[in-house]
Amino acid sequence: MLSDSELAVELLAQALNSQSIELSETTKAAFQTYAAMLVDWNSTRFNLTRLVSPQQIALNHFLDSLAVTKFVKIPFGARVIDIGTGAGFPGLALKIYRPDVHLVLIESTAKKLLFCRAVGEELGLTDIEYLHGRAEDRQTLQLLGGSGAIVTARAVAPLKQLLTLTAPLLSPQGAFIAWKGSRASDEMLEAEPIANKVNLRMDLVEQVLTVADVEPVKHYYVVCRRRK
Ligand code: SAH
Repeated sequence: MLSDSELAVELLAQALNSQSIELSETTKAAFQTYAAMLVDWNSTRFNLTRLVSPQQIALNHFLDSLAVTKFVKIPFGARVIDIGTGAGFPGLALKIYRPDVHLVLIESTAKKLLFCRAVGEELGLTDIEYLHGRAEDRQTLQLLGGSGAIVTARAVAPLKQLLTLTAPLLSPQGAFIAWKGSRASDEMLEAEPIANKVNLRMDLVEQVLTVADVEPVKHYYVVCRRRK
């Protein structure tokens, strides 16, 4: 019998396989440890997520974080800034898959960041900055302003607010990716005036992923780049 975390990783590997994305054995083992720690901390320490079944961890957390790499090229060694990372989604999941990136996790709730740090240390991941604070803090801007090749945010705030938060962090060629739900195009309409103000172009990426025996999962990403 597979343990729950083994099952989660098997599901993830299957789902990624259907996208021609292969996971090495080392990467699988890392995701398995991450899944096990998520379930353990969630039940014994503090609430990190409502989604803890193997299927939810595999599809709603890991796959949702990684599938974007099919559409947005993350340059080798790029600085990835994840705002409101919570239990590490998408930032930490991307870092496990792409250890070359330089990751910055920003989170305003200290205990969530503590969890991310524990996972990072357990997995021996290097080149991660754990920043306790808010994306809009002066200190964050001083430290990171204009430096994000990739800025990410999942389930943090409405798109129009996210554009204001992330535009100052983006490098000139950088891309901000907002993980959104089925209201993505409505949010884009609402965000249009702000996008004009901060000079960003928004593109919607919709992707349906089919995993055996599971309802197809639809992913929506809004990708924002500076207008020429
Ligand atoms: N991205 C994670 C967590 C989503 S919950 C996921 O998808 O699972 C949103 C998180 O963003 C919370 O942990 C909250 O503390 C954090 N947050 C909200 N606004 C923020 C801000 N302005 N700066 C940094 N963190 C923020």
